[in-house]
Amino acid sequence: MLTVKLASLLGQPVVSEFLRGIVLRGRYANAYLFHGPHGVGKTTAALAFARAALCERVHGAAPVDSAPSLFGEAPLAFAGAAGDDVCGECRGCRMSSTLQHPDLRFLFPLSGEEKTLETTVIETLQSMREDPLYVFQYEKAASIRISQTRELLAELGYRPHTASRRVVVVRDCDRMREDQFSALLKSVEEPGASTIWVLTTARLSRVPVTIRSRCQRVRFAPLPETLVRETLESQAGVDEKDARMLAALSGGSLGRALSMREAEPSMKDQRDAALALLAPALKGDPGALWAGVQKATGFGKAGREKLRLALEFHQLWLRDLLRTRYGAGSELLVNRDQVARLKELSARVDAVEIRRRLLVLEEALRSIDGNVSADLTLFSTLSRVGGERLGESAWPAHATARWDV
Ligand SMILES: [Zn+2]
Repeated sequence: MLTVKLASLLGQPVVSEFLRGIVLRGRYANAYLFHGPHGVGKTTAALAFARAALCERVHGAAPVDSAPSLFGEAPLAFAGAAGDDVCGECRGCRMSSTLQHPDLRFLFPLSGEEKTLETTVIETLQSMREDPLYVFQYEKAASIRISQTRELLAELGYRPHTASRRVVVVRDCDRMREDQFSALLKSVEEPGASTIWVLTTARLSRVPVTIRSRCQRVRFAPLPETLVRETLESQAGVDEKDARMLAALSGGSLGRALSMREAEPSMKDQRDAALALLAPALKGDPGALWAGVQKATGFGKAGREKLRLALEFHQLWLRDLLRTRYGAGSELLVNRDQVARLKELSARVDAVEIRRRLLVLEEALRSIDGNVSADLTLFSTLSRVGGERLGESAWPAHATARWDV
């Protein structure tokens, strides 16, 4: 995360080109807002952009540690710096690549007691330095704390320490309080300000309109599934079968795939548990279905993520079934450990019925971002997938049920 250059941002060619154009011209807006789904590289890009803005070679500041040029000017393009990206070698780059540049501030949401915050920050930065695939995970209530911004805001009135500008990166800025946004706004509107703000968010609607309208917006797209799979295999050491399942479940978010890779219970066990929930629906036993769903969702306490995952497992299973029926090779399947079962079922299942069930699941997945309760949604969806609630008991046994024998 900390040494990635703008030129090598994963799966974001448009963003990469746009940001390099800014660096090349050297004309920065006061504030940028990077928005898009979680886990697609916004923070990585924000830090790469910040490092490029602080790179001494890109911006022509005389490198302190090299001999002065015969012609009295700092050469722009030596050591591979194209002028639109970090050189990775100058004093500025060396400091910023370990997050120790005095003119680079990086804020991220924290939770817990005030006295533990400093340790959490130090540990997090250390993890970022050590793990190139570090994934931020914090509690629901985590926020950008006042103590993090107080010192920074006081500093904004002074000139940057060593560079010609200061860069403040705020990860998940939607977790700031209103008064923090106001202070930020004041800084953004300051004429001749030497601070560049780079804000990121996966929840654009929660960023105040006043902030949104004053930032240059940069949109990040979900990553292609194949790219997530290849990255899991080549950089995270995930084997091919698991990588395929994680990538299929990632929704284009490498961060989500990475955080699922060492899940407890394992993703396969979670899949089996999710698929097993359907059995009572197939037998037309709403009481048992309700009890199973209650248990799986922690009696309604589980969040949307758990609900989403349960529905996605059913969706992926049905997709595999459809693919198998249409003769797709097993290398294209997500549930690679169940190839024999999929083949057996696909020989006697009706494709129209699979599609109907997929539609039910898609409808439920779309509804998740609304105000739904996990247990009720899961119950009603599975009963519709099972077909019983609608009095459609004449349908064949559910194709996905591996427990109905
Ligand atoms: Zn540099």
